[in-house]
Amino acid sequence: MLIVQKFGGTSVGDLERIANVAKRVAKTRDEGHDVIVVVSAMSGETNKLIEYAHFFSKTPDREAMDLLLSSGERVTSALLSIALNEMGYPATAMTGRQAGIYTDTTHTSARIDHIDPKPMGNALSSGKIVVVAGFQGINQDGRVTTLGRGGSDLTAVAIAGAMGADLCEIYTDVDGVYTTDPRIEPKAKKMDQISYDEMLELASLGAKVLQNRSVELAKKMGVNLVTRSSFNDNPGTLITKEENIMEKPLVSGIALDKNQSRISLKGVEDRPGIASEIFNALADEAINVDMIVQTIGADGKTEIDFTVPQSEIERVKTVMEKFNSSIGEIEYKEDVAKVSIVGVGMKSHSGVAAKAFTTMAKEGINIEMISTSEIKVSMIIDEKYSELAVRALHEAYELDK
Ligand code: ADP
Ligand code: ASP
Ligand code: MG
Repeated sequence: MLIVQKFGGTSVGDLERIANVAKRVAKTRDEGHDVIVVVSAMSGETNKLIEYAHFFSKTPDREAMDLLLSSGERVTSALLSIALNEMGYPATAMTGRQAGIYTDTTHTSARIDHIDPKPMGNALSSGKIVVVAGFQGINQDGRVTTLGRGGSDLTAVAIAGAMGADLCEIYTDVDGVYTTDPRIEPKAKKMDQISYDEMLELASLGAKVLQNRSVELAKKMGVNLVTRSSFNDNPGTLITKEENIMEKPLVSGIALDKNQSRISLKGVEDRPGIASEIFNALADEAINVDMIVQTIGADGKTEIDFTVPQSEIERVKTVMEKFNSSIGEIEYKEDVAKVSIVGVGMKSHSGVAAKAFTTMAKEGINIEMISTSEIKVSMIIDEKYSELAVRALHEAYELDK
């Protein structure tokens, strides 16, 4: 079999842990498998590099950011390869470029365009373990790109797809996917399996145990994806097709995203084209807008509220300066959070959303924005109530049972 194993930041958090990862990889090799390993930067490293950049600029050049951030993963890939070779397991470390990972030009959140299977294939054929620096690639101009936070998951899934791997294992610091973040609600239950679609919603809505785009790609390419702990041998969670899952709970999980800010545009000129101008200007700066709510206009004015990741707020402020003449007042609220419930069972049942709103009301939590889809309900609330909201919803939907 060809197995792709990805180890996250905590799993390679220090030299001892990298040595443990080497042992686990060697064991898989001993079982007779070909192995491609994808590694993250040591935990905290990427954040540290971002802070370094912010010492000089609030809105650092994205191309330079990519060169900077890609360095963290290079360190761990080289170290793991050195450790494996020393143990008598021939290994070779590759950057994204060396592994043939080609992306588009969207710096700091590039999409993988294609992977050239030759460099990794050749190394495997010569009996080597391939260790790839996650989270990075190269664009058509030969510049280094990165794939967005948590992007090493995407590297692993994309490689598994491109190389036709039999299995893609994502090793992390929890036993698998839980009904909610077990660090917030200790009563959270680990799931043995979850559908691609539910996992995609959970990941997109803040459950960072898997990066959302990695789940999207795993579904598209039919990659067998398992998340499990690098600290024990427990079986983990299988992410699979909905039809493979027997039991379909109404609500499968609760996600929390604290990396949200709300922008309220008050006294906006109520005329055709205004929303298009505002959101195109944001899109031109590659700012990812999430929820948008516009209220019914009166007296030729309207109000538009939207959310963006907290990390983008400075860029939003710069863009909004262009609209001073057509917007009355702009309010920036950085300390909001998005709490969401997800479940395929919602498709066929009513009253699921109402229960979420009642739960918030009972806790005295004001809901500032709401958005729903077939399998999720999301609410924007004051960030200080985040954990309370998650626990209350977890209990209301009896996820601890
Ligand atoms: P890695 O560094 O291995 O990529 P991450 O920190 O990105 O790990 O993701 C693992 C973390 O995701 C866990 O430590 C946990 O706190 C968090 N998490 C959030 N939601 C969930 C969930 N539903 N199930 C499991 N873990 C979750
Ligand atoms: N090191 C990168 C991050 O922290 C990528 C990853 O760990 O997946 O976002
Ligand atoms: Mg991660």
